[in-house]
Amino acid sequence: MSSQKLVVVHELYPELAEQLAECFDLTHFTRVTTQEDMTAFRAALSQADAYVGSGIRFTEELLEAAPRLKVVASVSVGVDSYPVEAMRQRGIVLTNTPDVLTESTADTGFMLMMMAARRAGEMLDMVQNHEWKASLSRQHFGVDMHGKKLGVVGMGRIGQSVARRGRDGFGMSVNYYNRSARPDVESALGARRVELEQLFRESDFICVTIPLTAETEGLIGRHYLAMTRPRAIFVNISRGRVVREDELAACLQDGSLYYAGLDVFEQEPLPADSPLMGLSNVICLPHIGSATFQTRNAMCDLAVENVNRVLAGEQAVTAV
Ligand code: NAP
Repeated sequence: MSSQKLVVVHELYPELAEQLAECFDLTHFTRVTTQEDMTAFRAALSQADAYVGSGIRFTEELLEAAPRLKVVASVSVGVDSYPVEAMRQRGIVLTNTPDVLTESTADTGFMLMMMAARRAGEMLDMVQNHEWKASLSRQHFGVDMHGKKLGVVGMGRIGQSVARRGRDGFGMSVNYYNRSARPDVESALGARRVELEQLFRESDFICVTIPLTAETEGLIGRHYLAMTRPRAIFVNISRGRVVREDELAACLQDGSLYYAGLDVFEQEPLPADSPLMGLSNVICLPHIGSATFQTRNAMCDLAVENVNRVLAGEQAVTAV
């Protein structure tokens, strides 16, 4: 065992947990939920050389109390839980896990679009609640996806992967909103770059894959949601705080937005008193974007590889 101290806050697959216990002075939390967990985590981090994990909101004060920390390897692609600039100033390398989760997350986005389009949540409830008494009538119909207009908000890795599914699998035409133009994507996918307003006005399906940053926080609210087409479907697989959730719920309730599919929320787990609870025209999933065995294992492997490299004085594979 090395004298390097590693703190992990994540569920690891058994072989990796064994390997880390052999190679490091390891403190492993599967999750940090209670106040006692947090106290134990802070004590471990104060001695740590490296951290691997997700779900912890790092503050400058937390960094202050961890003077040995050299590398923070987030098991996520989003880095909205870390004070990136303060870490840079302290010389702490922040790494994330892009690419390995792109396809699984795009699958989740597509699943939400399809579930919303065919109102799968309502139909499942109908069967389970013994309310399927006759063949379906118009009040149960959904909408088609093939040949429709897809609008992608944030044409990065996941956005492109969603767009590819839409175009190649469903013959959808693709509009996108992105900070920079992506001529490569335009020629590969025939995608058209538009302003956000046009995207919301023209799309049949809207999928949000933009990161949460100071510029994107609260970007999407009633202003855009209420200009959607009559049976438009809105899906968010990025971060909850990109969308003003109270305004989204109000639009779903008053019918100015037809249907939504959400994997991410302002507060997670979704509180029992959320205005989204109880609405029939929303599909809510518990942040499952990358949650497959293969992808989560690959994310953990990449995070550990980043730690090993940085502690060996090498470049991280995926530094932020
Ligand atoms: P990415 O490759 O970095 O793509 C992000 C895209 O958003 C880039 O094309 C970027 O434009 C664009 N963008 C950033 N800020 C913008 C702004 N202010 N205005 C307009 N466009 C902006 O990231 P990714 O790998 O696709 O991941 C995207 C996000 O998905 C992550 O940050 C994470 O929050 C979320 N995610 C969620 C799950 C889940 O479980 N639901 C899983 C994985 C990821 P440029 O080309 O100009 O940089």
